[in-house]
Amino acid sequence: MLTKVIEQSKIEHFAKWLERAEKIVIVSHVGPDGDAIGSSLGLWHFLNSQDKTANVIVPNAFPDFLKWMPGSKDVLLYDRYKEFADQLIAEADVICCLDFNAIHRIDAMGDAVLASPARKILIDHHLHPEEFCKIIISHPEISSTSELVFRLICRMGYFGDISKEGAECIYTGMMTDTGGFTYNSNNREIYFIISELLSKGIDKDDIYRKVYNTYSESRLRLMGHVLSQMKVYPDHHAALISLTKKEQGQFDYIRGDSEGFVNIPLSIKGVIFSCFLREDTEKPMIKISLRSVGTFPCNRLAAEFFNGGGHLNASGGEFYGTMEEARKVFEQALEKYRPLLNAKG
Ligand code: 5GP
Ligand code: MN
Repeated sequence: MLTKVIEQSKIEHFAKWLERAEKIVIVSHVGPDGDAIGSSLGLWHFLNSQDKTANVIVPNAFPDFLKWMPGSKDVLLYDRYKEFADQLIAEADVICCLDFNAIHRIDAMGDAVLASPARKILIDHHLHPEEFCKIIISHPEISSTSELVFRLICRMGYFGDISKEGAECIYTGMMTDTGGFTYNSNNREIYFIISELLSKGIDKDDIYRKVYNTYSESRLRLMGHVLSQMKVYPDHHAALISLTKKEQGQFDYIRGDSEGFVNIPLSIKGVIFSCFLREDTEKPMIKISLRSVGTFPCNRLAAEFFNGGGHLNASGGEFYGTMEEARKVFEQALEKYRPLLNAKG
């Protein structure tokens, strides 16, 4: 049995909306990851089973390793089909905002979502949700939005209507937001849910392979290059990796190729904090990814130094300046956070 994580009143409120709703739009964050797409499609499959007209819209493209997911071809990219998407958003009865806590995380779509008269629900696990939705289901203690979607569907009494395809999407989000159940994954109920998803006929081993073992040769060579340039800061238990536009050109970089790189330095004994700086191809900025193990708050550091935020162990931000300047800021941050980086626990 699962703990009743989501408040009963919110379950009932949403169920009431659904009864009356015909057109439902699901939106998720820019640079959609496995949990963004997994939770969105998990909910989408369920809504389809209830004969609703549902559409998933995300701000921009998602990585190739998620394209096998059932329903992914129907995901609408806002940057390519803005007009059509704007119409769907404006005409929706209900808009479900999944896996983000602040309206700016859906980029250019934000205005359309705010302007829509639709009823809005937030389903998310990031800290400090903004209040742009009537129903706010926000649970930072839950490791993925996909898990929340599973809980929501079950609590409304529809476990039986979850299809194998929907289960595959939900599993993918749970798996990717926990690094294949290697972090934020000690809650035993996760494994109860997996057991339930397996009962739908999913092949979890195959999903793992489809997500993690389908990279290109150039991606692996890029990884080798990036790691060979890595800087380790033993006194700070930290490591830094980076990727310039020039290097991206040398290794035929395509979006998503550096997915997961930031986690690798954490496999060094003693390193509890990892930073990845990537020169963006579109905007004149450096994208920052931060990861930690234990209690080190990368979200605090991201907010203080890189205008960002996120989770305790996984956060990010942006830096407008050169790679050299970004490295300097990172080193200043390390100095400032030295006591915490050296704290036990
Ligand atoms: P990633 O390193 O995978 O891009 O991001 C990890 C997490 O950091 C995301 O799930 C998100 O919570 C947070 N994050 C990433 N980039 C930003 C950003 O620019 N601003 C904020 N507030 N959070 C971010
Ligand atoms: Mn997530």
